[in-house]
Amino acid sequence: MDKRYPAEPFRIKTIENVSMIGREERAEKMKEAGYNTFLLNSADVYIDLLTDSGTSAMSDKQWAALMTGDEAYAGSKDFYKLEEAVQRLYGFPYLIPTHQGRGAENILSQIAIPKDKGQQWVLGNMYFTTTRFHQEHNGAKFIDIIRDEAHDAALDVPFKGNIDLDKLQSAIAEKGAENIAYVCLAITVNLAGGQPVSMANMRAVSEICKANGIKVFYDATRCAENAYYIKEQEEGYADKSIKEIVLEQFSYADGATMSSKKDGLANIGGFLALRDEHLFEESKELVVVYEGMPSYGGLAGRDMAALAVGLEEALEFPYLDHRIKQIRYLGDKLREAGVPMIEPVGGHAVFVDARRFLPHLTQDQCPAQTLAASVYIETGVRTMERGIVSAGRNRETGDHHRPALETIRLTIPRRVYTYAHMDAVAEGIIELYKKRDTIKGLNFVYEPKQLRFFTSRFEYIEG
Ligand SMILES: *Cc1c(COP(=O)(O)O)cnc(C)c1O
Repeated sequence: MDKRYPAEPFRIKTIENVSMIGREERAEKMKEAGYNTFLLNSADVYIDLLTDSGTSAMSDKQWAALMTGDEAYAGSKDFYKLEEAVQRLYGFPYLIPTHQGRGAENILSQIAIPKDKGQQWVLGNMYFTTTRFHQEHNGAKFIDIIRDEAHDAALDVPFKGNIDLDKLQSAIAEKGAENIAYVCLAITVNLAGGQPVSMANMRAVSEICKANGIKVFYDATRCAENAYYIKEQEEGYADKSIKEIVLEQFSYADGATMSSKKDGLANIGGFLALRDEHLFEESKELVVVYEGMPSYGGLAGRDMAALAVGLEEALEFPYLDHRIKQIRYLGDKLREAGVPMIEPVGGHAVFVDARRFLPHLTQDQCPAQTLAASVYIETGVRTMERGIVSAGRNRETGDHHRPALETIRLTIPRRVYTYAHMDAVAEGIIELYKKRDTIKGLNFVYEPKQLRFFTSRFEYIEG
């Protein structure tokens, strides 16, 4: 793999100064925040890698578009601009804007999961939290049909996000095609570490589903990053443009939900895109209940204007090439120093393996939580725990879920940080790795009932 990396394909016009408080103050702030990085003030963070959602830097063209936003309650010109962009770039004729991705998931789950046909199933390539919530909330049960390799952190194989076609066929045989509400195909797969799906896999899934009369809806959140991987790694796509690849990706789908906060390069927003006129009519009836008029769906006119530009910019090759290689660069630096992580490095983040980083801690001592806290104290970098704390408790037994993976996610915001920032992150974590033996585990001191990772508090286990 080419180790050289592209310089930033943009120059900086506006800057935001960031906090550079010292280690002792950070240790104090982390303690006050109960050793939970979600409870830190962003003002105390030097490099914020908590999430890539809504944290993109907008371009001058997006900011300019913002000023031209048409805030009419009905028929805003920016709805038509956004509709035109979705039709041209994604190839779907019908658009419903929503306040963010989960707004689109809510509407899709309601219109695509029949209520009167007994138990319905949704099949997908690993789940996403909000997506699965809406599917289950509307009466369906979810079956994960991602290829087995996706569950093995250390295994470095291309297109680790693919659907296992045998699992797809056996689920159809077992449950009956008429009981499968739809297949939900995520490109890329967030919870598997940002792993992409190949075009061949999308084509095959579409063929199998068509033959069985089953619809396929994409979670298109990171569809541009997925297209980059196809261009780079799939036979026959090297000479195709990202735009051509994105159009072909969606040609195998009946519709898609989109979070504009990721590959829309916007700070808020989302949409549902559809091919079927009848489903579109049904969605319009629901969007007025949950979001707003079908011509704004919970977004300001200016947000739709900035998003229309962002959708276009996200498909530019120099931008994607810089983004993916910048993340890979961070991964390479950490790997060379022996820092353990999920392989291969995905499209939006590096996931450091806390189990192997802190082998002296048991899972009940919250290794990933501990690591996220230590990384902040040592380096001022904020990351997110994805381990036993995020997994929550079993509703029936009350015991912790104990996931196989204990990771911290270093999620890279789009167009925000430079290579020098990646060096600072890598060097800080490598220094910490050298003194990993000195890191003590954490105990819960406060634990809420729902989604505990957001607000739990901890203290160090002494002795
Ligand atoms: C962020 C995300 C969503 C939900 O989108 P929101 O805009 O946060 O509501 C859905 N699926 C995936 C894979 C995501 O990463």
